[in-house]
Amino acid sequence: ARAAAASAPLTPGALKDGTPVPLLANLSKPDGAAEAIELGAEGVGLFRTEFLFLSATQAPTVEDQTKTYTELLAAFPGKRVVVRTLDAGADKPLAFLNDAHEDNPALGLRGLRALRASEDILREQLTALANADAATEADLWVMAPMVSTVEETRYFVTLAKEYGIKTAGVMVEVPSAALMADRVLAEADFASIGTNDLTQYTMAADRLLGSVASFQDPWHPAVLRLIKATADGGKANGKPVGVCGEAAADPLLAVALVGMGATSLSMAPTALADVRASLLQYDLADAQRIAQAALAADGAASARAAAQAAAENAA
Ligand code: PEP
Ligand code: MG
Repeated sequence: ARAAAASAPLTPGALKDGTPVPLLANLSKPDGAAEAIELGAEGVGLFRTEFLFLSATQAPTVEDQTKTYTELLAAFPGKRVVVRTLDAGADKPLAFLNDAHEDNPALGLRGLRALRASEDILREQLTALANADAATEADLWVMAPMVSTVEETRYFVTLAKEYGIKTAGVMVEVPSAALMADRVLAEADFASIGTNDLTQYTMAADRLLGSVASFQDPWHPAVLRLIKATADGGKANGKPVGVCGEAAADPLLAVALVGMGATSLSMAPTALADVRASLLQYDLADAQRIAQAALAADGAASARAAAQAAAENAA
């Protein structure tokens, strides 16, 4: 498949009727860029910056960060690159941001909450991102993780703009943000739905705990309704809403997400080929019927089965 991909240039992601669906890569190191491009990534939909610093004992310098972000952006001239500010805490603690013990870190001072409590570190990261943006030709978008309120959205977007970041948005991965999406997207330039955490928080099931893994299923209509509400909030404000959680890598769920209104999909680069092929099998009206079938179900398994049946009718 690799050799074929290299010889035939890939067309941009789209449904059968030509509706464009940009297919983007989830990355955590700049040196993953070449492989992502080879596998058909049209840009980066989620660059997880915290992975760069998991073993750091001190906050990274502006210089070090500028170098890393410049290397990333330089690999994508003219392409969208969505960088997420540090998502520290819970499953990804950073020594220089998460120093206090928390019994319940998934519900603690994590993501934007932790950065806001150490605003110097957030300001340094935005400085480095602005430096890298000035030095390269990529279309830089910057977003904050774990945003739960409209007020946090306003805070982050205002701060990012202070540094000259042109496109500033938020991740929607907490139910409160999804429920308030019409208001969140009035403040943000875009949103990206993190279905991993959105599922964890909607289903009240720790994403790392095997004993409750059956609840961690983004096909659950409770999760799908929140995704739909977020996409509707984007549409009402004329703002793009992508999906960057694992759900986007499921070829059938990817179609349903587009049917709910997702405007781009970002995933591990190895998942791009299957999702691209799946999208090409359905028109937008099919995708909307598939989404509707899943949304109308009463559980994850029945949502998947209903989507499958709707997909078979369409094909
Ligand atoms: C998510 O929560 O879906 C997401 C994309 O972010 P992460 O997996 O890094 O928490
Ligand atoms: Mg997350």
